[in-house]
Order: sequence, then structure tokens, then C-alpha cells
Amino acid sequence: MFDAIIVGARCAGSPLGMLLARAGRNVLVVDRARFPSDTLSTHFITPDGVERLRAWGLLDRVLATGCPPLHGQLRTMQGMAFPPDPADPLTIAPRRTVLDKILVDAAREAGAEVREGAIVESLIVEDGIVTGIRGRAGDTRFEERASVVIGADGRDSFVARLVGADSYNEVQATTAGYYGYFKNFPAETTEVYVGGGLALFVFPTNDEESCVAVEYAIARFPNFKSDIEGGVAAALGTVESLGRRYAGATRNGKFMGITGHTNFYRRPFGPGWALVGDAGYYRDPVLGQGINDAFRDAEALAGALDAVFAGAKQWDDAMAGYEGQRNAATGPVYQLTAALCRDLDPGPEVLAMMAGAPQEA
Ligand SMILES: Cc1cc2nc3c(=O)[nH]c(=O)nc-3n(C[C@H](O)[C@H](O)[C@H](O)COP(=O)(O)OP(=O)(O)OC[C@H]3O[C@@H](n4cnc5c(N)ncnc54)[C@H](O)[C@@H]3O)c2cc1C
Repeated sequence: MFDAIIVGARCAGSPLGMLLARAGRNVLVVDRARFPSDTLSTHFITPDGVERLRAWGLLDRVLATGCPPLHGQLRTMQGMAFPPDPADPLTIAPRRTVLDKILVDAAREAGAEVREGAIVESLIVEDGIVTGIRGRAGDTRFEERASVVIGADGRDSFVARLVGADSYNEVQATTAGYYGYFKNFPAETTEVYVGGGLALFVFPTNDEESCVAVEYAIARFPNFKSDIEGGVAAALGTVESLGRRYAGATRNGKFMGITGHTNFYRRPFGPGWALVGDAGYYRDPVLGQGINDAFRDAEALAGALDAVFAGAKQWDDAMAGYEGQRNAATGPVYQLTAALCRDLDPGPEVLAMMAGAPQEA
């Protein structure tokens, strides 16, 4: 019997497992993936996220992988340029192969049991309360029980679906995007260009590569998906310095992308279950908030669960506090994201908000 079972071991699940284990709780983290492994995501981490890695004692490990420390951000929005400020706080864009492995290792080192290559196939529910999981690792079936089962299993959360978690504030994104990795694409810091139905990104990352991403308003570029290569080249060609560097760069691997997704909040708790990370709150990646959102919510949920385990708070009080904290921290950025991912053509109000670089509330 565990105190907590966490389904999903990436940006939300492993930090939650690590924090609960560091607090002396008996934790099982289960993921169908094995690590290191990639996932569908670019990987810009906001300053708040970097500070969380530092506070957890993991930032040096991430930097030691060769992921470059980035200061300032070159932002160009409809012709208005905001040059990088070298005094800006540190950001990084480590490959998810690197970051997620460090998070999984940290959970394990803290004392959590981490089962990789293990898929959760159903929840055990007794008298309306979730009390455990059933799953499979290869040919071996397993069943485990805990005081709480947490879905840290991403935006299509299996746990959320099984418990019927309500969603709210849904906003359909009308954008899609593709990204790839390039050698010989020089970049000193993160670059973001927004306007004309496009958002273009450059993230210097591990292995002396740049992650180059294009997000576009589907209605304005209806044929993009049928010629990804041509669409990316044309989009980057709208900014002289991007087009020039792109022409001299070599892609390493395929383009990856997403289309047709919905922004949402989910009610993140119920009898015997909770949700964290994208499972509970998903926003278009245009502002690169998801990793820090997962980190912050893992911290908040660890605190709430600890209060319940210690008998200091009732379940409903602690978890309502967790939900309120999450929603207060994300409200303004969610609004900005929703405004941006409508058509990637920000008006004066959105430009003013972006110029102030959205940060955690
Ligand atoms: C195209 C794209 C670009 C993005 N770019 C950025 C960016 O630049 N910066 C940023 O901060 N965020 C970005 N994001 C968002 C970021 O990827 C997510 O917010 C973040 O990965 C959420 O972490 P998570 O742990 O909640 O979920 P995930 O990373 O989705 O992890 C969920 C885990 O659960 C496991 N799992 C699922 N179901 C089961 C099951 N039944 N049994 C066992 N395991 C299971 C999966 O294998 C997976 O490992 C981007 C997202 C996309 C789609």
C-alpha cells in the first residue's frame, strides 16, 4: 500500500514523486515510457521553472548536459523589436530526453519507486473512491493500492477520462505548429517572432543544435499541413535573419507537430484521485509555459497532499486550495494564450501584455 501512486513520470509526475518522497511519503510512479525518451514538445523553460530546478538541486545537472544557459529573449512582434536584455533572468531549453531523465532519476533518488515501461490500464474504485491501479509491464500484470492516485499523464489523461473529471474555460485553438532540430543554425538566445498569423521560435538546445518551431493560424495557411517542409521554409522566410540561417542549416530528424487542440482546465481532484500538469490544465504551447506549470502544480499538490497525510487539513479543503492556487497563477497567462492562439496577429492590447513578458502571477 502506497501513500500515493502517480501515473506519468515526466514534468509533473516525477517532481511530484520526488517532493512527496523527500517529505517521507511512500510513492510509486508509473510510466509506460522508458527514460531517456523524447516526447512531443519543444522545451523552453521560463525563469520560474529554472528557479524551481535550482531550488530542487537539479539545475546544475541540467546545465552539465551542455544545454546552453540563455539570457534575454529576442522578441519581434509585428515589426516592434524587443532586443535581448543580458540582465534578464536565466532561461534554458534542454531536450526532453535530457530533462525528463534527470527528473525521473531525482524521483528515484528521493526514494520513490519508479516503474518504467509499465502501462496503467484501469483504476480500482471501491465505494466511489479510487483506491488503486491495475496495469501491465510487458507480460506481467500488476495491481497496486494507495491513499491517492494521481494522473500526471498528460493532456489526453487516461485518469481524467476514467474518473470523469469536468473541464471548464475551454478554448479551441485555431493554430497548429511544427518543429525540428537543426545543426548550423546559429542562435545566441531564444528568439520569438509573432505576427501575420505566424509565431516563429528558435531555442538553442543540447548538442549544439537549435530547435526551430513554427506555429500558424490554420485559417490563414490552410495548405500548410500538406507541405510541411515548404510551409516551414516560407514561414521562416518572412524574417530575413531566420530565412538566411535556415538556408544554411541541416535538419537532424523529422518535423514534429500538433494541430487541432483545445485549451482547458480540469477539476483536479475527487474521491481518492487528483490531476497534475497537462492532465489538469492545458494551454497552447505558444508562450512556453507548460513545463513550469507542471513544476509549480507539482509543488502545490505535494504541499496539499502532505497536509492531508499529516492530518493538518481535510481532503476537500486542501485540494480546493490546490485548485485555487493553480487557477490564480495561470489566469492572466491563460487569457493571453487564448487571445494569441486565435490568429497570431496580436492587437495593441496583446502586444502590450507580451512586451511585459508573461510570468507566473
Ligand atoms: C508541440 C508542443 C510544444 C511545446 N513546447 C513547450 C515549451 O517550449 N515549453 C514548455 O514549457 N512547454 C511546452 N509544451 C508543453 C509541455 O510539453 C507540457 O506542458 C508538459 O510536457 C506537461 O508535462 P506532464 O508531465 O504534465 O505531461 P507529459 O509530458 O505529457 O507526460 C505524461 C506522461 O504520462 C505517461 N502516461 C500517459 N498515460 C499513461 C498510462 N495509462 N500509463 C502509464 N503512463 C502513462 C506518458 O507516457 C507520459 O510520459 C509544448 C507542448 C507541445 C504539444
